[in-house]
Amino acid sequence: MRDLKELMRPAAAVLEPYDPAFAAVEVNLSSNENSFGVPPAVCDAMAHALAQTAANRYPDPLAPALRAELAAWHGIDPERIIVGNGGDEIIFNLFLAFGADGAKVVNCPPTFSIYRLYAELLGCAVADVPRDPKTFAIDEEALLAEAADARITVITTPNNPTGTLAPLALIERLCAATEGLVLVDEAYLEFADSPSSLALLGTLPNLVVLRTLSKAFAFAGGRIGYALAAPEIIDTFAAVRQPYSVNVFSQAAAAVAVRERAAYEGILRSIIEGRSWLAGELAKIEGVRVWPSSANFLLVRLPDAHSIWERLRDEHSILVRDFSQTPGLGDCLRITVGTPRENERVAVAIAELLGKDLP
Ligand SMILES: *Cc1c(COP(=O)(O)O)cnc(C)c1O
Repeated sequence: MRDLKELMRPAAAVLEPYDPAFAAVEVNLSSNENSFGVPPAVCDAMAHALAQTAANRYPDPLAPALRAELAAWHGIDPERIIVGNGGDEIIFNLFLAFGADGAKVVNCPPTFSIYRLYAELLGCAVADVPRDPKTFAIDEEALLAEAADARITVITTPNNPTGTLAPLALIERLCAATEGLVLVDEAYLEFADSPSSLALLGTLPNLVVLRTLSKAFAFAGGRIGYALAAPEIIDTFAAVRQPYSVNVFSQAAAAVAVRERAAYEGILRSIIEGRSWLAGELAKIEGVRVWPSSANFLLVRLPDAHSIWERLRDEHSILVRDFSQTPGLGDCLRITVGTPRENERVAVAIAELLGKDLP
Protein backbone atom coordinates (compact mmCIF):
# COMPACT_ATOMS: atom_id res chain seq x y z
CA MET A 1 0.00 0.00 0.00
CA ARG A 2 1.18 3.51 -0.72
CA ASP A 3 1.69 6.04 2.01
CA LEU A 4 -1.71 6.97 3.43
CA LYS A 5 -1.11 10.68 2.97
CA GLU A 6 -0.40 10.07 -0.73
CA LEU A 7 -3.68 8.24 -1.09
CA MET A 8 -5.61 11.12 0.46
CA ARG A 9 -7.21 14.07 -1.20
CA PRO A 10 -4.35 16.63 -0.85
CA ALA A 11 -6.59 19.19 0.89
CA ALA A 12 -7.46 16.55 3.50
CA ALA A 13 -3.92 15.26 3.98
CA VAL A 14 -2.82 18.52 5.59
CA LEU A 15 -5.65 18.54 8.17
CA GLU A 16 -5.62 17.56 11.83
CA PRO A 17 -8.84 16.38 13.53
CA TYR A 18 -10.83 19.34 14.91
CA ASP A 19 -9.98 19.73 18.58
CA PRO A 20 -12.34 21.83 20.67
CA ALA A 21 -9.91 21.39 23.61
CA PHE A 22 -12.56 19.86 25.85
CA ALA A 23 -11.63 19.15 29.45
CA ALA A 24 -13.69 17.89 32.35
CA VAL A 25 -14.35 21.06 34.36
CA GLU A 26 -17.00 22.43 36.71
CA VAL A 27 -17.62 25.54 34.65
CA ASN A 28 -17.56 25.15 30.87
CA LEU A 29 -17.62 28.51 29.13
CA SER A 30 -15.67 27.42 26.07
CA SER A 31 -18.13 26.62 23.28
CA ASN A 32 -20.84 29.29 23.44
CA GLU A 33 -23.39 26.76 24.57
CA ASN A 34 -26.42 27.82 26.57
CA SER A 35 -25.57 27.02 30.21
CA PHE A 36 -29.22 27.31 31.27
CA GLY A 37 -30.23 24.27 29.24
CA VAL A 38 -33.65 23.56 27.78
CA PRO A 39 -36.42 25.01 30.03
CA PRO A 40 -38.12 22.25 32.08
CA ALA A 41 -41.56 22.69 30.48
CA VAL A 42 -39.99 22.37 27.02
CA CYS A 43 -38.04 19.31 28.20
CA ASP A 44 -41.30 17.64 29.24
CA ALA A 45 -42.90 18.38 25.87
CA MET A 46 -39.77 17.06 24.13
CA ALA A 47 -39.87 13.85 26.16
CA HIS A 48 -43.46 13.33 25.12
CA ALA A 49 -42.63 13.91 21.45
CA LEU A 50 -39.60 11.60 21.61
CA ALA A 51 -41.66 8.82 23.18
CA GLN A 52 -43.94 8.93 20.15
CA THR A 53 -41.12 8.93 17.60
CA ALA A 54 -40.65 5.79 15.54
CA ALA A 55 -36.96 4.89 15.44
CA ASN A 56 -37.50 2.01 13.03
CA ARG A 57 -38.34 4.40 10.17
CA TYR A 58 -35.89 6.57 8.27
CA PRO A 59 -36.26 10.29 8.88
CA ASP A 60 -38.10 12.43 6.34
CA PRO A 61 -35.11 14.10 4.58
CA LEU A 62 -36.69 17.56 4.60
CA ALA A 63 -37.87 17.52 8.24
CA PRO A 64 -41.36 18.81 7.31
CA ALA A 65 -42.73 19.28 10.83
CA LEU A 66 -39.67 21.21 11.99
CA ARG A 67 -39.57 23.15 8.75
CA ALA A 68 -43.20 24.17 9.24
CA GLU A 69 -42.48 25.43 12.78
CA LEU A 70 -39.47 27.41 11.53
CA ALA A 71 -41.50 28.83 8.64
CA ALA A 72 -44.27 29.94 11.01
CA TRP A 73 -41.78 31.54 13.39
CA HIS A 74 -39.94 33.50 10.71
CA GLY A 75 -43.00 34.20 8.57
CA ILE A 76 -41.25 32.62 5.60
CA ASP A 77 -42.40 30.03 3.07
CA PRO A 78 -41.19 26.49 4.03
CA GLU A 79 -39.76 26.15 0.50
CA ARG A 80 -37.18 28.71 1.54
CA ILE A 81 -35.87 26.60 4.45
CA ILE A 82 -33.52 23.60 4.62
CA VAL A 83 -32.59 21.86 7.87
CA GLY A 84 -29.13 20.41 8.49
CA ASN A 85 -27.19 18.41 11.06
CA GLY A 86 -26.08 21.61 12.76
CA GLY A 87 -25.20 24.81 10.98
CA ASP A 88 -21.88 23.13 10.24
CA GLU A 89 -23.53 20.75 7.77
CA ILE A 90 -25.19 23.68 6.03
CA ILE A 91 -21.83 25.43 5.66
CA PHE A 92 -20.24 22.23 4.33
CA ASN A 93 -23.06 21.67 1.84
CA LEU A 94 -22.92 25.26 0.64
CA PHE A 95 -19.25 24.86 -0.29
CA LEU A 96 -19.96 21.37 -1.64
CA ALA A 97 -22.69 22.62 -3.97
CA PHE A 98 -21.27 25.97 -5.01
CA GLY A 99 -17.62 26.12 -4.13
CA ALA A 100 -15.48 23.47 -5.78
CA ASP A 101 -12.36 23.61 -7.96
CA GLY A 102 -10.62 26.83 -7.11
CA ALA A 103 -13.81 28.85 -6.72
CA LYS A 104 -13.18 31.99 -4.69
CA VAL A 105 -14.56 32.16 -1.15
CA VAL A 106 -14.26 35.48 0.68
CA ASN A 107 -13.84 35.42 4.45
CA CYS A 108 -13.40 38.22 7.04
CA PRO A 109 -11.02 37.01 9.75
CA PRO A 110 -10.74 36.79 12.64
CA THR A 111 -13.93 34.74 12.36
CA PHE A 112 -15.35 31.22 12.68
CA SER A 113 -12.57 28.83 11.59
CA ILE A 114 -14.97 26.31 10.01
CA TYR A 115 -15.49 28.43 6.87
CA ARG A 116 -11.85 28.26 5.80
CA LEU A 117 -11.53 24.63 6.91
CA TYR A 118 -14.47 23.37 4.83
CA ALA A 119 -13.83 25.70 1.89
CA GLU A 120 -10.26 24.44 1.53
CA LEU A 121 -11.22 20.82 2.10
CA LEU A 122 -13.67 21.12 -0.80
CA GLY A 123 -11.14 22.75 -3.10
CA CYS A 124 -12.09 26.43 -2.86
CA ALA A 125 -9.53 29.25 -2.81
CA VAL A 126 -10.09 31.44 0.27
CA ALA A 127 -9.47 35.19 -0.01
CA ASP A 128 -9.26 37.02 3.31
CA VAL A 129 -10.47 40.57 3.92
CA PRO A 130 -9.11 41.13 7.43
CA ARG A 131 -11.14 43.06 9.99
CA ASP A 132 -9.88 46.23 11.64
CA PRO A 133 -7.30 44.98 14.18
CA LYS A 134 -8.62 47.26 16.94
CA THR A 135 -12.41 47.30 16.48
CA PHE A 136 -12.90 44.14 14.36
CA ALA A 137 -15.17 46.12 12.03
CA ILE A 138 -15.31 44.87 8.46
CA ASP A 139 -13.37 46.88 5.86
CA GLU A 140 -16.48 47.49 3.75
CA GLU A 141 -14.88 48.89 0.61
CA ALA A 142 -12.21 46.18 0.53
CA LEU A 143 -14.89 43.53 1.03
CA LEU A 144 -17.11 44.85 -1.77
CA ALA A 145 -14.14 44.91 -4.14
CA GLU A 146 -12.93 41.40 -3.20
CA ALA A 147 -16.45 39.92 -3.36
CA ALA A 148 -17.20 41.15 -6.88
CA ASP A 149 -16.00 37.95 -8.59
CA ALA A 150 -16.36 35.58 -5.60
CA ARG A 151 -18.47 32.44 -5.70
CA ILE A 152 -19.34 32.69 -1.99
CA THR A 153 -18.80 35.53 0.49
CA VAL A 154 -19.28 34.84 4.19
CA ILE A 155 -20.42 37.44 6.71
CA THR A 156 -20.95 36.47 10.34
CA THR A 157 -23.17 38.72 12.40
CA PRO A 158 -22.71 38.80 15.33
CA ASN A 159 -19.21 37.58 14.49
CA ASN A 160 -17.58 34.70 16.35
CA PRO A 161 -15.24 35.20 18.24
CA THR A 162 -15.34 39.02 18.25
CA GLY A 163 -19.06 39.68 18.91
CA THR A 164 -19.12 42.37 16.19
CA LEU A 165 -22.29 43.16 14.19
CA ALA A 166 -22.32 43.75 10.43
CA PRO A 167 -24.73 46.48 9.28
CA LEU A 168 -27.73 45.34 7.20
CA ALA A 169 -26.87 48.05 4.68
CA LEU A 170 -23.53 46.31 4.09
CA ILE A 171 -25.28 42.99 3.42
CA GLU A 172 -27.54 44.68 0.88
CA ARG A 173 -24.60 46.34 -0.88
CA LEU A 174 -22.64 43.10 -0.83
CA CYS A 175 -25.46 41.08 -2.41
CA ALA A 176 -25.69 43.70 -5.16
CA ALA A 177 -21.91 43.89 -5.68
CA THR A 178 -21.11 40.17 -6.03
CA GLU A 179 -21.83 37.76 -8.85
CA GLY A 180 -21.95 34.91 -6.32
CA LEU A 181 -23.81 33.96 -3.15
CA VAL A 182 -23.61 35.71 0.23
CA LEU A 183 -23.80 33.57 3.36
CA VAL A 184 -24.94 35.59 6.37
CA ASP A 185 -24.24 33.49 9.45
CA GLU A 186 -26.68 34.52 12.19
CA ALA A 187 -25.83 31.76 14.70
CA TYR A 188 -25.96 34.35 17.52
CA LEU A 189 -28.64 36.71 16.26
CA GLU A 190 -31.06 35.96 19.13
CA PHE A 191 -28.63 37.69 21.51
CA ALA A 192 -28.30 40.84 19.39
CA ASP A 193 -30.34 43.98 19.59
CA SER A 194 -30.46 44.26 15.81
CA PRO A 195 -32.66 43.03 12.98
CA SER A 196 -32.09 39.81 11.06
CA SER A 197 -31.21 39.93 7.39
CA LEU A 198 -34.17 37.58 6.85
CA ALA A 199 -36.23 40.64 5.99
CA LEU A 200 -34.08 41.01 2.85
CA LEU A 201 -34.66 37.46 1.64
CA GLY A 202 -37.52 38.39 -0.71
CA THR A 203 -35.49 41.04 -2.52
CA LEU A 204 -31.98 39.54 -2.62
CA PRO A 205 -31.88 36.34 -4.71
CA ASN A 206 -28.28 35.49 -3.72
CA LEU A 207 -28.70 35.80 0.06
CA VAL A 208 -28.35 32.67 2.21
CA VAL A 209 -29.07 33.13 5.93
CA LEU A 210 -27.78 30.55 8.41
CA ARG A 211 -29.36 29.97 11.82
CA THR A 212 -28.89 27.27 14.46
CA LEU A 213 -30.62 25.89 17.54
CA SER A 214 -27.21 25.27 19.17
CA LYS A 215 -26.87 28.60 20.95
CA ALA A 216 -30.08 30.40 21.96
CA PHE A 217 -32.15 27.18 22.02
CA ALA A 218 -29.66 25.24 24.18
CA PHE A 219 -29.71 22.42 21.62
CA ALA A 220 -26.04 22.06 20.60
CA GLY A 221 -26.15 18.32 21.30
CA GLY A 222 -29.23 17.87 19.13
CA ARG A 223 -27.36 19.21 16.05
CA ILE A 224 -29.97 21.30 14.25
CA GLY A 225 -29.11 24.21 11.98
CA TYR A 226 -30.94 25.60 8.98
CA ALA A 227 -30.55 27.85 6.00
CA LEU A 228 -33.08 30.27 4.55
CA ALA A 229 -32.72 31.32 0.93
CA ALA A 230 -34.48 31.46 -2.44
CA PRO A 231 -36.27 28.17 -3.27
CA GLU A 232 -33.79 27.36 -6.08
CA ILE A 233 -30.87 27.62 -3.64
CA ILE A 234 -32.73 25.46 -1.12
CA ASP A 235 -33.31 22.85 -3.87
CA THR A 236 -29.56 22.75 -4.44
CA PHE A 237 -28.93 22.12 -0.76
CA ALA A 238 -31.55 19.37 -0.86
CA ALA A 239 -29.82 17.78 -3.84
CA VAL A 240 -26.30 17.57 -2.36
CA ARG A 241 -27.12 16.71 1.25
CA GLN A 242 -26.93 13.28 2.80
CA PRO A 243 -30.65 12.45 2.86
CA TYR A 244 -30.78 11.11 6.44
CA SER A 245 -28.32 13.43 8.15
CA VAL A 246 -30.92 14.82 10.58
CA ASN A 247 -32.26 12.01 12.75
CA VAL A 248 -35.88 11.52 13.82
CA PHE A 249 -35.27 12.37 17.49
CA SER A 250 -33.57 15.67 16.74
CA GLN A 251 -36.28 16.61 14.26
CA ALA A 252 -39.02 15.87 16.79
CA ALA A 253 -37.38 17.61 19.75
CA ALA A 254 -36.37 20.65 17.71
CA ALA A 255 -39.90 21.12 16.41
CA VAL A 256 -41.04 21.27 20.05
CA ALA A 257 -38.32 23.78 20.96
CA VAL A 258 -39.26 26.10 18.12
CA ARG A 259 -42.98 25.82 18.84
CA GLU A 260 -42.34 26.58 22.54
CA ARG A 261 -39.82 29.35 21.82
CA ALA A 262 -41.59 31.80 24.13
CA ALA A 263 -40.35 29.67 27.05
CA TYR A 264 -36.77 30.74 26.25
CA GLU A 265 -37.35 34.47 26.59
CA GLY A 266 -36.34 34.70 30.26
CA ILE A 267 -33.15 32.75 29.59
CA LEU A 268 -32.19 35.00 26.68
CA ARG A 269 -32.79 38.05 28.88
CA SER A 270 -30.58 36.56 31.64
CA ILE A 271 -27.77 35.88 29.17
CA ILE A 272 -27.96 39.41 27.78
CA GLU A 273 -27.94 40.85 31.33
CA GLY A 274 -25.12 38.48 32.27
CA ARG A 275 -23.14 39.72 29.29
CA SER A 276 -23.24 43.33 30.45
CA TRP A 277 -22.54 42.35 34.05
CA LEU A 278 -19.54 40.21 33.08
CA ALA A 279 -18.22 42.80 30.63
CA GLY A 280 -18.41 45.42 33.39
CA GLU A 281 -16.65 43.25 35.98
CA LEU A 282 -13.88 42.20 33.61
CA ALA A 283 -13.32 45.75 32.40
CA LYS A 284 -12.69 46.82 36.02
CA ILE A 285 -9.66 44.52 36.21
CA GLU A 286 -6.50 46.39 35.31
CA GLY A 287 -4.91 45.13 32.10
CA VAL A 288 -8.10 43.50 30.77
CA ARG A 289 -9.58 44.75 27.52
CA VAL A 290 -13.19 43.73 26.72
CA TRP A 291 -14.78 44.23 23.31
CA PRO A 292 -18.47 45.08 23.02
CA SER A 293 -20.41 41.92 22.09
CA SER A 294 -23.81 41.26 20.55
CA ALA A 295 -23.51 37.50 21.13
CA ASN A 296 -23.49 35.15 24.14
CA PHE A 297 -19.73 35.50 24.65
CA LEU A 298 -17.10 38.13 25.29
CA LEU A 299 -13.72 38.50 23.63
CA VAL A 300 -11.11 39.75 26.09
CA ARG A 301 -7.42 40.56 25.86
CA LEU A 302 -5.27 40.16 28.95
CA PRO A 303 -1.60 39.77 29.80
CA ASP A 304 -0.20 36.28 29.22
CA ALA A 305 -3.56 34.95 28.05
CA HIS A 306 -2.41 31.41 27.35
CA SER A 307 -1.14 30.86 30.87
CA ILE A 308 -4.28 32.48 32.33
CA TRP A 309 -6.32 30.04 30.21
CA GLU A 310 -4.34 27.09 31.63
CA ARG A 311 -4.61 28.31 35.19
CA LEU A 312 -8.36 28.92 34.88
CA ARG A 313 -8.68 25.28 33.81
CA ASP A 314 -6.22 23.72 36.26
CA GLU A 315 -6.67 25.87 39.37
CA HIS A 316 -10.30 27.02 39.03
CA SER A 317 -11.91 24.24 36.95
CA ILE A 318 -13.13 26.84 34.43
CA LEU A 319 -12.76 26.26 30.70
CA VAL A 320 -12.80 29.19 28.28
CA ARG A 321 -11.52 29.28 24.67
CA ASP A 322 -7.92 30.23 24.00
CA PHE A 323 -7.53 32.35 20.85
CA SER A 324 -4.08 33.65 21.74
CA GLN A 325 -2.46 31.77 18.83
CA THR A 326 -4.96 33.02 16.24
CA PRO A 327 -3.66 35.76 13.92
CA GLY A 328 -5.02 39.13 15.04
CA LEU A 329 -6.11 37.76 18.43
CA GLY A 330 -2.84 37.71 20.35
CA ASP A 331 -3.48 37.35 24.10
CA CYS A 332 -7.22 36.95 23.53
CA LEU A 333 -9.63 34.57 25.25
CA ARG A 334 -13.29 34.04 24.42
CA ILE A 335 -15.57 33.59 27.40
CA THR A 336 -19.12 32.28 26.97
CA VAL A 337 -21.70 34.09 29.10
CA GLY A 338 -23.15 31.45 31.44
CA THR A 339 -25.43 31.47 34.46
CA PRO A 340 -24.95 34.28 37.01
CA ARG A 341 -22.95 31.88 39.25
CA GLU A 342 -20.69 30.87 36.37
CA ASN A 343 -20.17 34.49 35.33
CA GLU A 344 -19.21 35.41 38.87
CA ARG A 345 -16.79 32.49 39.14
CA VAL A 346 -14.94 33.39 35.98
CA ALA A 347 -14.79 37.11 36.87
CA VAL A 348 -13.43 36.39 40.36
CA ALA A 349 -10.94 33.83 39.06
CA ILE A 350 -9.52 36.16 36.40
CA ALA A 351 -9.22 39.00 38.92
CA GLU A 352 -7.40 36.69 41.31
CA LEU A 353 -5.06 35.32 38.64
CA LEU A 354 -4.14 38.80 37.53
CA GLY A 355 -3.26 39.56 41.11
CA LYS A 356 -6.12 41.77 42.10
CA ASP A 357 -9.36 41.24 43.98
CA LEU A 358 -12.48 42.63 42.44
CA PRO A 359 -13.19 46.08 43.89
C1 LIG B 1 -21.92 27.70 16.63
C2 LIG B 1 -21.82 28.32 15.28
C3 LIG B 1 -22.46 27.80 14.15
C4 LIG B 1 -23.27 26.56 14.07
O1 LIG B 1 -23.05 25.60 14.98
P1 LIG B 1 -23.86 24.24 14.89
O2 LIG B 1 -23.74 23.71 16.27
O3 LIG B 1 -23.17 23.40 13.86
O4 LIG B 1 -25.27 24.56 14.49
C5 LIG B 1 -22.36 28.47 12.96
N1 LIG B 1 -21.66 29.60 12.87
C6 LIG B 1 -21.04 30.13 13.92
C7 LIG B 1 -20.32 31.40 13.74
C8 LIG B 1 -21.07 29.51 15.15
O5 LIG B 1 -20.40 30.04 16.17
